[in-house]
Amino acid sequence: MDNLESTRSSNFITNIIDKDISNNKNDSRVHTRFPPEPNGYLHIGHAKSICLNFGLAKTYNGKCNLRYDDTNPSREEVEYVDSMIEDIRWLGFDWEDRLFYASNYFDTLYEYAVKLIEDGNAFVCDLTADQIREYRGTLTEPGKESPHRNRTVEENLDLFKKMRDGEFEDGSRVLRAKIDMTSGNLNMRDPVIYRILHANHHNTGDKWCIYPMYDWAHGQSDSIEGITHSLCDISFEAHRPLYDWCIDKLDIHHPQQIEFARLNISYTVLSKRKLRELVEGNYVADWDDPRMPTLSGLKRRGYTPVSIRNFCDRIGVAKKESIVAVADLEFSIREDLNKHSPRVLAVLNPLKVIIDNYPDDQVEEMDAINNPEDESAGSRKIPFSKELYIEKEDFREDPPKKYFRLAPGKEVRLRYGYFITCTDFIKDDNGEVIEVHCTYDPESRGGSSPDGRKVKGTIHWVSAEHAIEAEVRLYDRLFMAYDPLNVEEGHDFKENINTNSLEVITALVEPSLKEAKPGSRYQFERRGYYCVDSKDSTNEKLVFNRTVTLRDTWAKLEKANK
Ligand code: ATP
Ligand code: MG
Repeated sequence: MDNLESTRSSNFITNIIDKDISNNKNDSRVHTRFPPEPNGYLHIGHAKSICLNFGLAKTYNGKCNLRYDDTNPSREEVEYVDSMIEDIRWLGFDWEDRLFYASNYFDTLYEYAVKLIEDGNAFVCDLTADQIREYRGTLTEPGKESPHRNRTVEENLDLFKKMRDGEFEDGSRVLRAKIDMTSGNLNMRDPVIYRILHANHHNTGDKWCIYPMYDWAHGQSDSIEGITHSLCDISFEAHRPLYDWCIDKLDIHHPQQIEFARLNISYTVLSKRKLRELVEGNYVADWDDPRMPTLSGLKRRGYTPVSIRNFCDRIGVAKKESIVAVADLEFSIREDLNKHSPRVLAVLNPLKVIIDNYPDDQVEEMDAINNPEDESAGSRKIPFSKELYIEKEDFREDPPKKYFRLAPGKEVRLRYGYFITCTDFIKDDNGEVIEVHCTYDPESRGGSSPDGRKVKGTIHWVSAEHAIEAEVRLYDRLFMAYDPLNVEEGHDFKENINTNSLEVITALVEPSLKEAKPGSRYQFERRGYYCVDSKDSTNEKLVFNRTVTLRDTWAKLEKANK
């Protein structure tokens, strides 16, 4: 795989794996898995886990499975299953023939539960969900044993079978592991491992009306697949004793669960459930809205797989949660696009310029370099003519000191064009400048100085006659708050939404972009990186998404405010 450096550097996880290998544990195999629940679209937080799991497998010449943790039929959809496959492939990872579904293990998981019952390690409980919660106790008080805890093995086997055969209603009974109601770890106080749910499942249809809980399905699925190192986020640390208990009681292959800190990003929300709220509440257009931190949103925004992998590599893995600056993610995409994206001229806020001494019908083809960072990208021609457009902000009637762009009497270089000097300008009734008149120096073709005289400013332009219109979507951050989920009681994270996160304008772009393919990425010189929208751009109407500005304008703002 190209450019994949992930997890080459050592960290606490590679230390564990190195030690396991030196002890010949699991015959020195390394086998990981990425286990998403298909209840939404994957986001950049998942990318961290994907890069870690697939990256470790690659580093150690091992394997990584893709496994859908599809044990909750009420929230899961085939659309999500399909999107996840697409997104992981896009990121550049391959599970070969190892695409698995926890739901394919339902028979085995059922048999395992029967074994627990037979060994006296599980019982059917008739308490309601509320009662179970009440009986569980708290961190400071021990729990109380269920009155059904001492049912006989025969009775438990019979009731569990009847649960499976659909004889009971949803919520009327559960299967619980029999562990220790006084344990200091609440997860060990006779946790529920099966519940009744008469629901259609995307994979198993109506075959089952009982479904295993996460804690019963996850470790056993890891074991069935021969996973050696089961990486999960830190919120599962307190579940590890239960993970180990189940596997020990079943006496099956024992993977090692290892926890690492989740990725959090400033001004960003990473949780499928919260992201779904944004989609369902129409705060964004869809899961792949370019403002979303989903992989499909980032892709549509113009992010490259390499930039995301590099980002995940740079942030590393640790045990302690922290918030990574969104600027670090933006740095990664700028770095990649700077190396690889062709430069083009595009004017976002057009102001007409007329070169009075330029021949009326003349059109010249000017040579323009496609990418100064990459000689092999070659060059192209851009038409130059008497009437051009420049950016409104590149002209000032009363320029401040050190303004090196166009102003009355001032000379600038048109990128790949000529030196021009402003001689006059015209305003409309509102006093807004609508036309600038200039003369050009025919000796400065290509933008080089004819006599060594210095011109400080270089501005971009398009030929009025040849430019094409394009819709440009200027995206900004979706949230105003550094940590959007950190809200006071009675408030909702959606109150932190930036209501100005999208501005749509009509820009004029150089004619070479007529052929621009959906998904292709460019640097608009002096303006930033832009990507042809993969959904809405057509031959008739070009649509660009702003991926990122050239510089971190927020950091500049924050500095200015200090
Ligand atoms: P979400 O709250 O977004 O649904 P989740 O943890 O419930 O997250 P899963 O589909 O269960 O989502 O996650 C699949 C894998 O991705 C898990 O191993 C989980 O630990 C990991 N993961 C999810 N979010 C992050 C994150 N922000 N940083 C790192 N890993 C993550
Ligand atoms: Mg989840």
